[in-house]
Amino acid sequence: MTTPDIFANCRLADGRRVDLHVAKGRISDILPAEVGPAGPDRFDLGGRLVVPGFVDGHVHLDKTLLGLPFQAHRPGDTVAERIAIEKAVLRDLPVPVEQRAHALVTQMSRFGTVALRSHVDIDTDWGLSNLHALLRVREAVRAIMDIQIVAFPQNGILRDPGTAALLDEAIRAGADLIGGLDPAGIDSDIKGHLDVVFGIAERHGVGIDIHLHDAGALGCFELRDIAARTIAAGLQGRVAVAHAFALGYSDQADVDATAEALARAEVAIMTNEPGPVSMPPVARLRAAGVTVFAGSDNIRDAWSPYGNGDMLERAMLIGYRQGMKTDADLSHTFAMATTLPARVLGLGGDYGLAVGARADLVALDATSVPEALVARPSGRMVIKGGRVLDHASSFSESASY
Ligand SMILES: [Zn+2]
Repeated sequence: MTTPDIFANCRLADGRRVDLHVAKGRISDILPAEVGPAGPDRFDLGGRLVVPGFVDGHVHLDKTLLGLPFQAHRPGDTVAERIAIEKAVLRDLPVPVEQRAHALVTQMSRFGTVALRSHVDIDTDWGLSNLHALLRVREAVRAIMDIQIVAFPQNGILRDPGTAALLDEAIRAGADLIGGLDPAGIDSDIKGHLDVVFGIAERHGVGIDIHLHDAGALGCFELRDIAARTIAAGLQGRVAVAHAFALGYSDQADVDATAEALARAEVAIMTNEPGPVSMPPVARLRAAGVTVFAGSDNIRDAWSPYGNGDMLERAMLIGYRQGMKTDADLSHTFAMATTLPARVLGLGGDYGLAVGARADLVALDATSVPEALVARPSGRMVIKGGRVLDHASSFSESASY
């Protein structure tokens, strides 16, 4: 394991060539690049682009089928149908959740992800078993990945009596945030569902991260309700909503009013390029002051055969889908997989390319952020806490920078 004092000849996003000095796992100085001999204390990056490591704002470590032979996808038409199919798929798998989750975290780290937020299913079947597995994985991978865990009621809360108490218990057992799922579409009770979610958040002082597939005016109504409750609970900046397809389906006036409410409440939106459904309009939401960030969501699981945990590829898919082409737009799309999810996860001054931040970095075979986004170079070096991770892929031999 290489732990140099200086990462030399790094190209920053603004084009500067610098030497990054590292002490005790943190960036201790950023100085203009100097010529010097490479050695165990001085690792020369050859002018490659160095950026803060990727942050995956939304993934499901407990659901992945990685570690098993490729599984044929079993389709379902509604969220409820797919929940039932997933139950059947995950029951009696020969590879335990801990092992599958560990395999996925390792793969994500290889691509350059240094922090992630994972949802974990809590229901009356699983109880807290998947949570306990992920808590063990979190400890085991601490040197390569920071993990936040959301207690997620995949089976609904009110339609699966007993889940509300389990969610409360999950927070006491170590989950960091409380989740939710389609208050109308799954539980048919917006108030009842959100009372439980916000009640747990207020009781335990934790943030909230809700899955919302509900479309059209209904979904927009739910988003505005979530925004109003966020302000009432004083949880501004600590609530995120995943998918929010309604922002892509609804009429323009509805979307504008909802975006304004989300911005005022500092509710962030997660998107992941979900296929032939309507995505939240990233540029428009950004203009309204809403933080939109990226996550992998499902990776090789009962919900999707796609996904590999590469946040650079994820950001490219989002940019491609949303027609992002200028350097400024490409750079913003890149931020959706780096600084924006870092802010949503509350990583604060620990994250970033600045003196005092943790040396959690990725070096890429590229000369600029827009180039990196469109090219998705496989040549990468991943640095976590100042250590070069051996399992990351290597740089291309032929390139010069
Ligand atoms: Zn999800």
